Amino acid sequence: MNSPLQPVTRSLKRRIVLPLLVFSLVGVGIAVFAIQQMVKRQLFEKLHERAELVANTVNYAAESIQRRGELQRIVTAIGAETEVKLVVVVGGEPSQVLATTRQEWLDKPLGSLPLADVREDLETVLKTKRRHHGFHPDSHEFDLSSPLLLNQVTLTDWDLSSGAVVVHLDTRPTEREVRATVLRFSAAFVLALVILTFAGYHLLNVRVLTPLAIIGQLVKKRGNTDRSLGAAAATGDEIGQLAHTLDDALTKAEFARRDLENQKFALDQHAIVAITDAQGRITYANDRFCAISQYSREELLGQDHRLLNSSHHAKEFFHGMWTTIAHGAVWHGEIRNRAKDGSFYWVETSIVPLRGEDEKPHQYIAIRTDITTRKRAEEELLSAKIFTDNANDLLLDSLKQADLLRDEARAASEAKSEFLATMSHEIRTPMNGVLGFTNLLLDTPLSAEQRDYTSTIKNSGEALLVIINDILDFSKVEAGKLTVEKLSFDIGQTTRECIGLLSARAGEKGVHLKCLLPENAPTHLVSDPNRVRQVILNLAGNAIKFTPAGGSVSVQMTLLATAPSAGGEPASEPVLRISIIDSGIGIPKDKQARLFQKFSQADSSTTRRFGGTGLGLAISKRLVELMGGEIGLESEDGKGSTFWFTLPLTPKQGTSTLPLSSPALNRAGNSGIKSVGGLPSGLRILVAEDMLANQLLVTKLLSKLGCESDLARNGKEAVELYQQKHYNLILMDCHMPVLDGFEATQEIRRIEQSSDRTARHIPIVALTAGTLDDEKDKFTHCGMDDHLTKPFSPAQLTSLLAKWCSAEETRLAP
Ligand code: ADP
Repeated sequence: MNSPLQPVTRSLKRRIVLPLLVFSLVGVGIAVFAIQQMVKRQLFEKLHERAELVANTVNYAAESIQRRGELQRIVTAIGAETEVKLVVVVGGEPSQVLATTRQEWLDKPLGSLPLADVREDLETVLKTKRRHHGFHPDSHEFDLSSPLLLNQVTLTDWDLSSGAVVVHLDTRPTEREVRATVLRFSAAFVLALVILTFAGYHLLNVRVLTPLAIIGQLVKKRGNTDRSLGAAAATGDEIGQLAHTLDDALTKAEFARRDLENQKFALDQHAIVAITDAQGRITYANDRFCAISQYSREELLGQDHRLLNSSHHAKEFFHGMWTTIAHGAVWHGEIRNRAKDGSFYWVETSIVPLRGEDEKPHQYIAIRTDITTRKRAEEELLSAKIFTDNANDLLLDSLKQADLLRDEARAASEAKSEFLATMSHEIRTPMNGVLGFTNLLLDTPLSAEQRDYTSTIKNSGEALLVIINDILDFSKVEAGKLTVEKLSFDIGQTTRECIGLLSARAGEKGVHLKCLLPENAPTHLVSDPNRVRQVILNLAGNAIKFTPAGGSVSVQMTLLATAPSAGGEPASEPVLRISIIDSGIGIPKDKQARLFQKFSQADSSTTRRFGGTGLGLAISKRLVELMGGEIGLESEDGKGSTFWFTLPLTPKQGTSTLPLSSPALNRAGNSGIKSVGGLPSGLRILVAEDMLANQLLVTKLLSKLGCESDLARNGKEAVELYQQKHYNLILMDCHMPVLDGFEATQEIRRIEQSSDRTARHIPIVALTAGTLDDEKDKFTHCGMDDHLTKPFSPAQLTSLLAKWCSAEETRLAP
């Protein structure tokens, strides 16, 4: 503890001993005065006692003596006492001196006595009959006057019985005696007082002043670690206690000081600390304050905080701060300051006012923390948020835009499907004419050259039709309008048919085509036979196409207990796997994966060499998936390929519709394959068709098949002809003037119902170029039994007639 001890300017010794001396002197004075008073009193009482004794003795003598002379003798004896100056006894009437120590006054009348005071005293006593006395220190005399009784017997010659006596005593011997006593007493008293004073001083010195001085010295010398002060002054009395208390207090103060130092150190490590006076001038700045502000301590001290103002905060901000702290309240806030080099820094600040005794702030402590990093992060966060908000807005706009685009794309896609459907109708109708008449032409006698040209026209037409059909199918896939049916059919039969359809082409190319169907192969399958046929024809057609002469193509069928699913999980239901294996050119590994995507070909030169659109596999994949199966391939470049697809043997629940012929058949059906099965002869067919080319084609074909036919140019004519004649079947074009095919069919069905003639159901087959599936519902709905898509082959027409007319023929036969 280094707090300075004040030098002793007013010594406790002087401040105690001087008053002690003064008190002693005053005490002596008072004592002397009291003693004097006591002496006077004692003197008086002693003199009074003696005077009384003398007076009483005289009185006793006066009362008891027999003769006057005896009284005089007694008085004379009394008067011999050294103290007794004068005794006078008076009595009688008029009063005269009866006895006295002055012989010359004996028997003299009272009035003649020379001493006036004696005379007056005696007269007063005689008159008042009361004693009185007086002390005259100046003349060293004490007098007593007293009435007395006189023995009358003795004093027979006197008439008076009462008198008075006056006694005068010399006070000096008594005074001397008393004074000597007082002197001795006083001397003893003063001596005692002096001894006491010295003893008191000594004790004070030894017991108080010296220990205090020792404590003072020790406190002054006391080191930070030395706590032996209490022990040094361990006297056990109050001063010892004081020393202990002081020691404790000093120890505590020392600890407190160290705590405070540590706290200050800690604070300095963490915080930027400044102290200002009441006017805001800096009186203390710690190292951190200097470091962050870049000013030296000398530059800071005496300045106010305006030195650091960054002009970021409004005047009101600082005004509010000053108002708060000037009222003695603590202020918290975040401030942006400017360092010496002009850079900015942020500090979180608490300003604590320190109040003086007048309760007004006389100092302010500002404790600050550097929050520049946090503030920067906040600013960045804010700008990032603004950026994100903007990005969000943009994103929302983009999403809206995307929605618009999607809607537009959807509309465009629908328009495209619509367009393709229309196109197919428009293209297929004339193609019907082209292919139909080419077929008819080929049946007429032609020169070799003509036959060659005509065959080329036919092949080109058929190729064109395949492409149109592919595009049409694919447009349906894209529009999600491709559907499959669930019909029970003989899969072995279907496969064999496909082989039959392709054998001519394979033969032409010199490719060996075979079919391997196991004995135990399931004969019946529930699926879409037309679509299955389409897939087999496509895969096998490709195999023939990509296998050079001398190679082989085989179609195999295997029954799998579990489906070889892509995920490798066993399927619970058995599947049929149809594989088309060729020894052709093969497909490089890196090209295989893309093959099932639309417009994809393994090699861009393929189209030039082999033709094709790159749509066949994409359509096949979609079809197989729709039927609940999978499609895949294994191939090695240059060695051949195996394309396979699976079909579930037990398909899931579904609706089955009427079997309708499909353009898919056309892909192979126009390959110059002849009809299957024979027709009953003499069939009569009604053909309702408005287009001239088609009228001609259908009637020619029918006549070639040995059928009779009538022609109606619109629906109305058809209904009329139906009513006039008997027909085995009606071929009904859909789109005709006056009454279209649908209306005409409905009319015919109505007539059938109401007719009283043998109501028999005439088969009506729609002739259509449209291939969109929703038309099928329309056919069924209006009462048509089947449909034939234009362009159709003679074979298709034959099988259709065979299908609907065999039973009819049997019935009609007489
Ligand atoms: P394309 O009409 O071009 O034949 P596909 O989708 O049927 O369209 O076939 C796509 C491509 O796959 C073909 O162009 C050919 O490159 C390749 N491809 C298909 N089958 C075979 C096969 N059996 N052998 C070799 N390549 C084949």
